[in-house]
Amino acid sequence: MSEAATEELSARQLDKIAHENNKLHKRLCRLVGQAIGDFNMIEDGDKVMVCLSGGKDSYALLDILMTLRERAPIHFDIVAVNLDQKQPGFPADVLPGYLSKLGIPFHIENQDTYSIVKRLIPEGKTTCSLCSRLRRGILYRVADELGCNKIALGHHRDDILETFFLNMFFGGKLKGMPAKLVSDDGKHMVIRPMAYVKEEDTARYAEVKQFPIIPCDLCGSQENLQRKQIKNLMREWEKKHPGRVENIFSALSTVVPSHLMDRSLFGFTDIKADGVANPNGDIAFDEEPCSTPETNTISLQRL
Ligand code: SF4
Repeated sequence: MSEAATEELSARQLDKIAHENNKLHKRLCRLVGQAIGDFNMIEDGDKVMVCLSGGKDSYALLDILMTLRERAPIHFDIVAVNLDQKQPGFPADVLPGYLSKLGIPFHIENQDTYSIVKRLIPEGKTTCSLCSRLRRGILYRVADELGCNKIALGHHRDDILETFFLNMFFGGKLKGMPAKLVSDDGKHMVIRPMAYVKEEDTARYAEVKQFPIIPCDLCGSQENLQRKQIKNLMREWEKKHPGRVENIFSALSTVVPSHLMDRSLFGFTDIKADGVANPNGDIAFDEEPCSTPETNTISLQRL
């Protein structure tokens, strides 16, 4: 192949890559915008504290929110906040350097929760629950001090699904991770604008944008094995049955309390047959219609 042809091919390949990257950026903007709209996450005059851990998801969240803010018909402010927990080897200069270049307001909160956790939790025991409790309290205080009325977290669709399965398999609850909810101290609105975004998209976006990722295992804590199992299960499902994970995610927004068993959500004890036909009523021995051919053919063995 001639040199000119090679150059021509490279140029075409580069064009293709640029096109794909552009599509990815557009998709992320669309999905984040859609989640914000669906759940009324951000309103005019809000001050949003974007929690930045140094991981791919929070970088992507900040980046996309900044793009959407430029286009939004409303005005809202963004403050990026990182909690430096003084974990060994944490590169303290990475985030200030990155955020200064972006030119947005930011705050680094220095709190040595690492030493507290190490002091209070015996060697070999899981540190995550105390660590996250401490972190949560600090972030609520910082939000107050910065005058932020919204706290934005970088959790994405797959985090939500993993939490859903963890709660179901190990906690006996049908409960995921909310896209928007008041915090447990009742004072803050926590939002997850990336709720509709797939993890593989944030991973690719992080590569494209070359975010300066900070490793997430500096604390030395064991990886959550149950979450890892769920992740693998979802990956297997998706490989064997493309679209299944998206179907499960859609199910989280299409809940039918009368066809579940939670008596606090549906008044089973008081219902009466009133003679009025209702397509959502029980269809006795008929099988429930499925919305896709794929779900029609699922057998238990294939699960
Ligand atoms: S993995 Fe480490 S930093 Fe994260 S919550 Fe657990 S102890 Fe804390």
